[in-house]
Amino acid sequence: MAYQDLKEAVIAYSKEIGIDQIGFASVEPFKELKARLEEQQALGYASGFEKGTPEERTTPRKLQPEAESIIAIALAYPTKLKDAPKSVKGDRRGMFCRASWGTDYHEVLRDKLNKLAAFLEEQVSDFCHTSMVDTGELSDRAVAERAGVGFSGKNTLIISPEFGSYIYLGEMITNIPFTPDQPIEEGCGTCTKCLDACPTGALVEPGRLNAQQCLAFLTQTKGFMPDEHRDKLGNFIYGFETCQAVCPYNRGVDFHHHSEFEPDPELVKPRLTDLLNISNREFKEKFGAMAGSWRGKKPLQRNAILALGHYKETSALDQLIDLMNHDPRPVIRGTAAWSIGKMDTESGFRAIQQAMTYETDPEVIVEMEKGLRFKTIKQ
Ligand code: SF4
Repeated sequence: MAYQDLKEAVIAYSKEIGIDQIGFASVEPFKELKARLEEQQALGYASGFEKGTPEERTTPRKLQPEAESIIAIALAYPTKLKDAPKSVKGDRRGMFCRASWGTDYHEVLRDKLNKLAAFLEEQVSDFCHTSMVDTGELSDRAVAERAGVGFSGKNTLIISPEFGSYIYLGEMITNIPFTPDQPIEEGCGTCTKCLDACPTGALVEPGRLNAQQCLAFLTQTKGFMPDEHRDKLGNFIYGFETCQAVCPYNRGVDFHHHSEFEPDPELVKPRLTDLLNISNREFKEKFGAMAGSWRGKKPLQRNAILALGHYKETSALDQLIDLMNHDPRPVIRGTAAWSIGKMDTESGFRAIQQAMTYETDPEVIVEMEKGLRFKTIKQ
């Protein structure tokens, strides 16, 4: 089959298996991206979750020597939660960002890429490929941009004119010389909504993110949340998406093409207090299939504690005092102390003072002192 015919057959097959968008890119090194990645590292703006060196991440032939093209795919995901439980005083709910709704997208996209690979294997005798979703060396976004799936917004995300930025991206390096597609021209124009709305200033300039200030990244870290960001998360316990919520390209966007991504309201908006003492086993059973569980339960529990403090949810005070006194993890004890202080109650301050008489971890003690300072500020 001629390569152009094969390309058309791949596009047709991609529709059959539920891929929302597909594009084809060359395997030329991503030179501009390489310089940018090096700059990000030098500035301390990288997240640390990246895989591979800038050279590996921008040179497809380093990953597959016989590479001739890259196929980029995108799947749109839902944005609206039907029958969402209300988060009210006495029954506060946390929120997983939309990219964690339903089954972990890595699995769903890998399945689509495997199907595409199986299709190509039937057509091309010496076919070889390397597929990636999010955690591979290649930048999903750079590939998607080159393949014309969308343009790169000032919020650093790929924006598809049809699906907005609520899309999952994946790619397959192949040894088939498919004709590349053209990047799309559309752009942000004079809009700066995402830069203006970011509560931490993580979008330091159009198209440049300091991951170390990005709340979506910070919800996934395992240490203490930086003080200045603790009150900015609201009820988000995993991810953060203001820069997408305000984007005009996402207005009215809500695609339900994939049953795997349909959210269970009780899972994506769980009761905060239910998370505090959840066992490893129950956590795995309930949340293990979601993308948001990849760092384990501790970051989510820390964020749940912060949310309870932020909302001054005093109905959780006893549970938090119990965590402060007995949890073996310093981050949880210290964060609980901070949130107890934030609630500004006499019994809370007394509990912190008492706990300080036997707490030995210096970092936790610092958090306890911070908790007590909320009282000082009030007086
Ligand atoms: Fe671009 Fe505006 Fe969307 Fe930001 S909010 S990505 S500036 S269109």
